[in-house]
Amino acid sequence: MPSVFIKTYGCQMNERDSEAVAAQLVAKGYSLAKSEAVADVVLLNTCSVRDMAERKALNKMANMIGIAKKERPNQVFGFMGCMAQSRGQELVDKLPDVDLVVGTQKFHRTADYLDEILAGRREKIVDTAAEEKSEAAIREHLLNGSAQKSVSAFVSIMQGCNQYCTFCIVPYTRGEERSRTIPDIVAECRDLVSRGVKEITLLGQIVTSYGKKEKREEWRINGASASAPGAPKRSEGGSTLDPRPSTPLSPFVQLIEAVHEIDGLDRIRFTSPHPKGYGDDLVEAYARLPKLCESAHIPVQSGSDRLLKIMHRGYTRERFLGIIEKLRRAKPGIGISTDIIVGFPGETEEDFEQTLSLAREVEFDQAYIFKYSPRRDTPAADMPDQLSTPVKEERNERLLRLVNEIAARNYEKLVGTQVQILVEGPSKKNPARMMGRTRCNKIVVFDGSDRHRGQIMDVKITRAGSFTLYGDPAILE
Ligand code: SAM
Repeated sequence: MPSVFIKTYGCQMNERDSEAVAAQLVAKGYSLAKSEAVADVVLLNTCSVRDMAERKALNKMANMIGIAKKERPNQVFGFMGCMAQSRGQELVDKLPDVDLVVGTQKFHRTADYLDEILAGRREKIVDTAAEEKSEAAIREHLLNGSAQKSVSAFVSIMQGCNQYCTFCIVPYTRGEERSRTIPDIVAECRDLVSRGVKEITLLGQIVTSYGKKEKREEWRINGASASAPGAPKRSEGGSTLDPRPSTPLSPFVQLIEAVHEIDGLDRIRFTSPHPKGYGDDLVEAYARLPKLCESAHIPVQSGSDRLLKIMHRGYTRERFLGIIEKLRRAKPGIGISTDIIVGFPGETEEDFEQTLSLAREVEFDQAYIFKYSPRRDTPAADMPDQLSTPVKEERNERLLRLVNEIAARNYEKLVGTQVQILVEGPSKKNPARMMGRTRCNKIVVFDGSDRHRGQIMDVKITRAGSFTLYGDPAILE
């Protein structure tokens, strides 16, 4: 059977989509190649969020095709994901040697399409159509095979986005919000746990919108209609989830509760919520549900109310700060990270100062800072007062410096403390050492061995580096 190499650009959702496609191909007998140089099929899973990501994928494909023409004339090439969705046939027109273009609702068709192309039944396939229920088609996992078991897995709970932030291309590339059902997601999580997974991260563009559009009765797992498989136990006095929440539960918190009930699962995380839909029930969930790790990634985008409005974010600075305050009251020490865009059209020095002051006030543990990139068909791309690259770069630098300074100070404060980590495997930078994550999502590197993989361990922090902690489990032993 042929071998496949998949290269992924962009976010965790893209990583997850690639993993599912790879697992589907492996199930059909394909092998996974270590690089494009030795693969029969090369797939690029693309990102459209910023222009740079699109250009990187296009250049990579053009280069690979150039080399293949001389060295590997039978190699098959495909684009998948967001750029494939937004550009479709245009990609084949530009690069005629591309054989396959698969949109964001068609990942699960990739294996069949490749079979057809490799068998010579079809020469080229471009499929970017919408497909009902495709949100439930991203479910297979690789888990790195049996020798290198994954302890942490991502589970896609929904697809699409209805927020239409004026800067963002995602609603156009991923389509309308569609959520999977709770029983379906719980079944996938149970299967993962039975295969050794200890930590699950629930994934969606805006997870706080999970299930809000779907009004179907089988979604409700509270009270009278708590009949769905995977529904949390709410028997009198017997619930593991007491004390009971004081607010009605949103579908997303119901989902977290259902996943929380899975025996053998140690940790739950999720990404990304939206400040607009961040209800008190979610804040309370952190205090009630011991498996829900105290870390929250909440994209803020800007500290200026004026810009938040033009961005169509649907919340104010005060509302964002209110959520952070409540979270810290519920879980002191909770790790907080965010996404911020600098250089949005019309961003004045005053607006930017507001973002700096928000970063100072919140003291993020980590912030992903993006220089605004105009995306076609999004309202912000046509707004007046587009900022120059040097202005964006200068603001990016200033904000980065501030975020790094604050994070370094706060990481340093952890030296000498004892933290609990889940050991994931060898450290990426130094495979001779092991790495794990604290409940607050901080990386800890320590001298360990493969027998530690999958263990929850207490370690004492001996040193802090840049967004990495160094620990010693021996001190505790
Ligand atoms: N769905 C999440 C939300 O809306 O909060 C974020 C998803 S997006 C893939 C990840 C991040 O990319 C966003 O939070 C934003 O900071 C950044 N981003 C999106 N569009 C951008 C653009 N046009 N230019 C620069 N950064 C952008």
